[in-house]
Amino acid sequence: MTTPNPVFPTNSSDAIVIGGGPVGSYVAFHLAKAGVKTTVYEEHPQVGVPSHCAGHLSIRSLKNMGLYPLPEGIEENTFCSANFYSSYGTNFKLSLSCPVTVALNRACFDQYLAEQAKTAGASYVLNTRVQSLLVTNGFVRGVKIKQVNSGEENIFSKVVIDAEGISSRLLHQAGLRTKKPSRIVYTAEAEIANIFNCERNAVEVYFGKEYAPGFYGWLIPRRDGSAKLGLATNKGNPLEYLKRLIAKHPVASRQLAKAKIIRINYHAISLGGPIPKSYTNGFLAVGDCASQIKPTTGGGVIFGLSCAKIAAQVASSAIRNDDVSAESLKVYQQRCNELTNLDFGVMLRLRRFLDSLSDDKLDEMLRVCQKLGVDKALRDVDEIDFQGKMLLAVLRKPAVAAAFLYFGLLYLSTNP
Ligand SMILES: Cc1cc2nc3c(=O)[nH]c(=O)nc-3n(C[C@H](O)[C@H](O)[C@H](O)COP(=O)(O)OP(=O)(O)OC[C@H]3O[C@@H](n4cnc5c(N)ncnc54)[C@H](O)[C@@H]3O)c2cc1C
Repeated sequence: MTTPNPVFPTNSSDAIVIGGGPVGSYVAFHLAKAGVKTTVYEEHPQVGVPSHCAGHLSIRSLKNMGLYPLPEGIEENTFCSANFYSSYGTNFKLSLSCPVTVALNRACFDQYLAEQAKTAGASYVLNTRVQSLLVTNGFVRGVKIKQVNSGEENIFSKVVIDAEGISSRLLHQAGLRTKKPSRIVYTAEAEIANIFNCERNAVEVYFGKEYAPGFYGWLIPRRDGSAKLGLATNKGNPLEYLKRLIAKHPVASRQLAKAKIIRINYHAISLGGPIPKSYTNGFLAVGDCASQIKPTTGGGVIFGLSCAKIAAQVASSAIRNDDVSAESLKVYQQRCNELTNLDFGVMLRLRRFLDSLSDDKLDEMLRVCQKLGVDKALRDVDEIDFQGKMLLAVLRKPAVAAAFLYFGLLYLSTNP
């Protein structure tokens, strides 16, 4: 596609960010802080709504980014335990020495990040969808926008940062490969009231091919007795699986016997690891759009925010140096790789391992963890995002090393 050469009219920005999700706002915050004239386009009338996320994040990672503690009203609960259940109801309980994770109200969290970006100087244009990229001679020069109740308009910029989330519809126009379709799981997440027999500070995780093939189900309780209940599957209709989990899972069915579903959202998560290339001339892709999501848990906020900060640093320096070519922007990819390559390598293997297990083997695995005292060995763990580095650290503990050896043999016996 070609467009006329840009004239940089008054409505142009140095940087355009597509999408006002957490990642888009965090990029905008760091760009604006660096003095870059930044505009965020968000297709919805309000940032953070509709929300599709459990908002379960690591406290340590948020602290490392200067985002914890959060202002009142965003935090819903903190957790120091997790119960992992097999499809037969076997429970492996992990109890940590202090709260390690937090559940956030994602709409409020997204709005907080957007406010931070605005305070730093970024502009937000809501109700405005980016329809396409403006590409001239292999350079992304801006975007074509469409505002509700008005026509299309071309907006030019020096850099476009794509943070449009999992749909990643615009990536192909930049000549980049998108997420792997075979590694997508589909989610249903419900807001529920009236949960029973759940510890207030424990996250519940339900495994089983009958309930959540290719992933797992989760229950994240709030302090007020309500909860987020969700699951993802790599086949079939996630709502049907959610109904089955509520009705039939040996543990979930008891906890949810009187549960009232208030609302359900549907979305998708990419478990295939980051896209191979996330930059081109005048363009960077970040967050879910670049599939910067943990293949083990589907968590994408922390990796997305970490890469967003790098994207903003690289883009602002490229703009300052008046060189936004792919050659200049490729350092974004290099720095993201340095930060996450080990962890994605480990998590992709763990995902493959989990996918390969039958329900019987998974049940056995939870029993073995219990027997070997893996829970005690992991008591002081507070790193849950960078799982490659975390694994290297905990492998020094004999119980974890023994469990790891056992799982390695299990994997080899299942996949000769
Ligand atoms: C059910 C579920 C539960 C999850 N739970 C967790 C969890 O507990 N912890 C965790 O870390 N991660 C979780 N995730 C993943 C997490 O939600 C994502 O990783 C995170 O939202 C990525 O942020 P983002 O800003 O890249 O994308 P998004 O949050 O999807 O934001 C993208 C924004 O771009 C806007 N947009 C899209 N296209 C356009 C366009 N063309 N023009 C203008 N605006 C556009 C959208 O409206 C949206 O506001 C979960 C995901 C799902 C589906």
